[in-house]
Amino acid sequence: MKKNVRKAIIAGNWKMNKTRPEAKALLEELKPMVSDVKDVEIVACVPFTNLETALAATAGTNIKIGAENCHFEKSGAFTGEISADMLAEMGVEYVVLGHSERRQYFAETDETVNKRTKAALAAGLKPIVCVGELLWERECNITEEVIARQIKLDFFNVSAEELKKCVIAYEPVWAIGTGKTATADQAEEVCAFIRATLAKLYGADVAETITIQYGGSMNAKNAAELLSKTNVDGGLIGGASLKAADFTTIITAAVNG
Ligand code: PEP
Repeated sequence: MKKNVRKAIIAGNWKMNKTRPEAKALLEELKPMVSDVKDVEIVACVPFTNLETALAATAGTNIKIGAENCHFEKSGAFTGEISADMLAEMGVEYVVLGHSERRQYFAETDETVNKRTKAALAAGLKPIVCVGELLWERECNITEEVIARQIKLDFFNVSAEELKKCVIAYEPVWAIGTGKTATADQAEEVCAFIRATLAKLYGADVAETITIQYGGSMNAKNAAELLSKTNVDGGLIGGASLKAADFTTIITAAVNG
């Protein structure tokens, strides 16, 4: 199966940026710039406080809205947390899970990423599950071991039918927010390895249908080369998703990719 049968998805991860008026302004600027885009799914993953504003601003457009995390329990005594059902009820479609900033600063583990993935799927959300190695792990030549372990644990007990609703974002931790991008060949090598790992777990037919994104300092300048690679089906974009023009350039690169 070829790349063009998989859905290309460009998702912005706004992180902890934008007040509600700023969120509305950014989406209003973006909307006309991308309104003609058909073959690429455009997603803006925004802070919880911006979800309602973002959903209203993008209603009836080709921009989908995602959250940046969700809790794994349905409800209860988890002060400060948001459940997958709460997001789904609002009309949120996607949720980023296992982002390296969550793993690094908020002690998230593969076990909780797995629980969150299952909770998100049960609520009807589409998880964007992030995996990626630390610089030290790459230097020690264990990138593939690290990635295989994350894939096996994060998708433990996730069925093939459920996996088809997931997106995997390969985000080398050393490339996130650092300005250091993986080369297109490095990105392709690991995205291909992720697909091969999925093929072992779920079969090649399933693996060929899964959208695998690259994320890590993707920007308007380097997007075209990264997205031209066979196994790079899209991007998870942090900093560059906060500028409508740059985000649009990346989306256009995906259209041509
Ligand atoms: C991210 O937050 O997922 C990300 C890839 O950030 P940046 O593009 O800023 O490196």
